[in-house]
Amino acid sequence: MPSLTPFTVPFDTRQVFIGGVWRSATNGATLALDNPSDGTPLARIARGTSADIDAAVAAAQAALEGDWGRMTAAERGRVLGAIGRKVLEHVELLAQLEALDVGKPLKQGRADVIALARYLEFYGGAADKVHGETLPFQNGYTALTLREPHGVTGHIVPWNYPMQIVGRSVGAALAMGNACVLKPAEEACLTVLMFARIAAEVGLPAGALNVVTGLGEEAGAALSAHPGIQHISFTGSVATGALIQAAAAKNAVPITLELGGKSPQIVFADADLDTALPSLVNAGIQNAGQTCSAASRILVERAVFTQVRERMAERYRALRVGPAMADLDMGPVISARQQGMVEHFLALGRDSGLAIAAQAEIGTDAPRGGHYVRPTLFDDVPADHPLAQQEIFGPVQVLIAFDGEAEALHIANGTAFGLVAGVWTRDGGRQMRMARALKCGQVFINNYGAGGGVELPFGGVKHSGHGREKGFEALYGFSTLKTIAIHHG
Ligand code: NAD
Repeated sequence: MPSLTPFTVPFDTRQVFIGGVWRSATNGATLALDNPSDGTPLARIARGTSADIDAAVAAAQAALEGDWGRMTAAERGRVLGAIGRKVLEHVELLAQLEALDVGKPLKQGRADVIALARYLEFYGGAADKVHGETLPFQNGYTALTLREPHGVTGHIVPWNYPMQIVGRSVGAALAMGNACVLKPAEEACLTVLMFARIAAEVGLPAGALNVVTGLGEEAGAALSAHPGIQHISFTGSVATGALIQAAAAKNAVPITLELGGKSPQIVFADADLDTALPSLVNAGIQNAGQTCSAASRILVERAVFTQVRERMAERYRALRVGPAMADLDMGPVISARQQGMVEHFLALGRDSGLAIAAQAEIGTDAPRGGHYVRPTLFDDVPADHPLAQQEIFGPVQVLIAFDGEAEALHIANGTAFGLVAGVWTRDGGRQMRMARALKCGQVFINNYGAGGGVELPFGGVKHSGHGREKGFEALYGFSTLKTIAIHHG
């Protein structure tokens, strides 16, 4: 296994970005980022305060009243497109930063950079294609609607896919003409800082994008409660999402919440198993299972249950786990805390007598001090067991047997979450019946899109959240509708 490459981050990471200026946090404090692959220090970031959030909101408001607010939709689109192209010039550096910071294999880091660029391309192209309507109204009137930006938008981003989530959230908000205050996660945010540098270099006007790193309970809480924010977009845990919803309610501010899930892939006996198999496993271990739309439940019709279990187990045993820069199938999880959470669930499974169908080994060269967990496939898990109900956010999948469509649906819809579902069947009628009856935000038939789909509206129901990001739909979320009625006789 190749050794880790020594790496120096090529910019000052200890600064917030406010009104086009990089500077220390107001109190000069910093926080440590570590490298999840070996537990060594990677960089320090600014520990932004509520005073920094105040300054960022003021800078965003000034941008709306200045150069940024005066830009036409076409000009905004052109800037976003240029940022996207510049991002692509830095694929390797951004991918390395993401790999070191998050622990994801380099190839996943590269895929995330491409996705970031694609969001900017998509939303850059869409900026001047969102428009209102003229409405049939009374005689002597003309009535019309205008799509307008909310104003200053707050973006609270997690550590699992910093680039992708910034791309989909900030990309759409900027396309609509909002000015953004972005609070990345304290566990991983180097690519977000570099993204802001690229955006400024390409010519995004000062204040259109402000980045304040720091702790969730400090900078994050200050941002979500700020009276100068007109919309909040949050991706993360259910518990934090509830806090943000409560803070936003005090200011009567609309929010988009994307809170994870317990997404099923449902395999019927008539499925093309050769096509399904790679997807069943990859969608569980991608990014070490730290994906909101991870396929953490695999529901299999009893007639093919043994076959699917054995074929998945074979794949599990072949998985290579090691440091991100070695670019294997899976890296570490983000932190010792996350490692502890996953190990807690593994112990719970063992203690309640669940059988393990397969477990991958951690590579012998994986550095001590890295936050590694063994990818684990649990066999024939009761649908109401905590391992089949709670989001683990690690490389753990449960196999659940079912008989027929009705039971599959009952189990699939039987959690508190509803983000994504996959259905594998050749039966066209069943495809549509399942797609309509599944309670979730996205259904994939004979494929599964964990994390993918720039063009596809994404979001959940129930505890998976509300509102939609990605696709054109996000542009409606990041704008408000004004109705104008003109009496002209
Ligand atoms: P979190 O929800 O606490 O953190 C996500 C973001 O919210 C970070 O930027 C954080 O700084 C910020 N934040 C935290 N507390 C805040 C507060 N009081 N006010 C405003 N912002 C705040 O998630 P976590 O603690 O990093 O992870 C815990 C669990 O959350 C994971 O195990 C996983 O189940 C889930 N999670 C889900 C996603 C997802 O994509 N849906 C992403 C990350 C974590």
